[in-house]
Amino acid sequence: MTALFIGGQWTAPGGHGTREFRCPADGTLVATVAEADRSDTVAAVAAARAAFDDGGWPSTPAAERGALLLGVADLLERDKDTYARAESLDTGKRVVESELDIDDIAACFRYYGRLAGTDAGRVVDTGMADTVSRVVHEPLGVCGLITPWNYPLLQTAWKVAPALAAGNTFVLKPSELTPSTAMLLMDTLTEAGLPPGVANLVLGDGAEVGAPLTEHPDVDLISFTGGLETGRRIMAAAAATVKNIALELGGKNPNVVFADADLETAIDYALTAVFLHSGQVCSAGARLVIEDRAHDAVVDEIVRRADKIRLGGPFDASAQAGPLISAEHHRKVADYVATGIAEGAVLRCGGGRPDDPALSDGPYFRPTVLDDCRSDMQVVREESFGPVLTVERFGSEDDAVRIANDTHYGLAGAVWTGDAGRAQRVAQRLRHGTIWINDYHPYVPQAEWGGYRQSGIGRELGPTGLDEYRQTKHIWQNTRPRPQHRFPA
Ligand code: NDP
Repeated sequence: MTALFIGGQWTAPGGHGTREFRCPADGTLVATVAEADRSDTVAAVAAARAAFDDGGWPSTPAAERGALLLGVADLLERDKDTYARAESLDTGKRVVESELDIDDIAACFRYYGRLAGTDAGRVVDTGMADTVSRVVHEPLGVCGLITPWNYPLLQTAWKVAPALAAGNTFVLKPSELTPSTAMLLMDTLTEAGLPPGVANLVLGDGAEVGAPLTEHPDVDLISFTGGLETGRRIMAAAAATVKNIALELGGKNPNVVFADADLETAIDYALTAVFLHSGQVCSAGARLVIEDRAHDAVVDEIVRRADKIRLGGPFDASAQAGPLISAEHHRKVADYVATGIAEGAVLRCGGGRPDDPALSDGPYFRPTVLDDCRSDMQVVREESFGPVLTVERFGSEDDAVRIANDTHYGLAGAVWTGDAGRAQRVAQRLRHGTIWINDYHPYVPQAEWGGYRQSGIGRELGPTGLDEYRQTKHIWQNTRPRPQHRFPA
């Protein structure tokens, strides 16, 4: 099977390697795919460049581009079962979660489909005779879209939908671990009527086929979601050709619970905040920041319930959480837990593999709670990206804010309190891109998503998410040009 889609055709890659994709849950072979190499990426960029410079997509009326995206949303809903199954086989996540993801993905295409035709720029009143001044939006050009493995198609949709709405062409490089839904999407875009060359797909190792995208002078924008270290490398590579960049590099997100909150609800949401998709979520509420006097009651209950979470594969209807993405990632999560304990954290539950022999073929990790943590510990500072909750205590509101902001990330966070004034005060002081009050994890495509500090650059979703994929241009016209005679003739 080939995963190279260039100029509207599935193409045999120049690379000689193949990669076997196995379901993380039990190692079942999903597909064997021929991998691309550097020269394939260069060919994909050339196709995207030609489609931008010589093709009709950038000049297609925005409302028509929007209509095509609405058609994509319809096709995704029609093929929801196929997409959800493919996503679950690649990631190991429960199929019910994948189905929800496909709903969100269709909603994203629909949102940008509607937005595409609504923003026509503006006319500026200069107050001067014989001039016309307009601010217009134009597509940027060729976009390099690099996506991770945790929400493969959702992360892809957050980039592809606004990139297309704005009139760009793109080369997509999905994670080498989870390519299936990106491959399905190419056929869906074709069926919806996207012209050849607008959408291109390369699959292979990040360094081999991702890095050339970040270096290529014909790529105008890199939009990347993934780890901090890779983000830093991409930013440095993009500097050479001064590319536009949008980066979403994860978070280490505080879930701040005051004793005056509805604690039963806060506990329930704290479990979802951190254990959804086994913690492999950039906005996971991995840091519980809890008021001293509520600590014992809240943490005891979280531990009791975490210990009962049933692990299982994507098609096990009784499972409540799935495996991690890979054995390598399992080792990384285990190392973070060990480091945390060595630095003084108290292991309250979990900490490694489940005993169930039926789960021995997959990288399952038991929901884990580390108590008595401090914000200088490595397990609190860095993303474990696993089902690991760290617990820090606070005594006062100022303390809570200081602890919650003591991180080099700043993607998301929550505050739980029954005091309406405190809710607003704390939400305003938390330096994270999304703050939930008495809630965790909801997001809507209408609202921006992005981080403070090292969580990233730029915004995804929302109306200004579209601006990441456009060039804003001011057009000034003198309607009665005459000689000025500023200098002697
Ligand atoms: P990476 O950041 O390495 O991977 C994300 C994407 O970038 C993949 O498609 C990858 O390709 C690609 N890539 C890797 N190196 C380069 C490069 N030099 N140039 C261009 N593209 C490149 O994530 P990992 O899979 O290694 O995960 C590491 C950590 O990142 C996780 O443990 C987690 O903490 C964090 N993460 C954050 C996510 C988020 O939502 N913000 C999502 C996923 C992970 P390939 O993998 O195919 O080689």
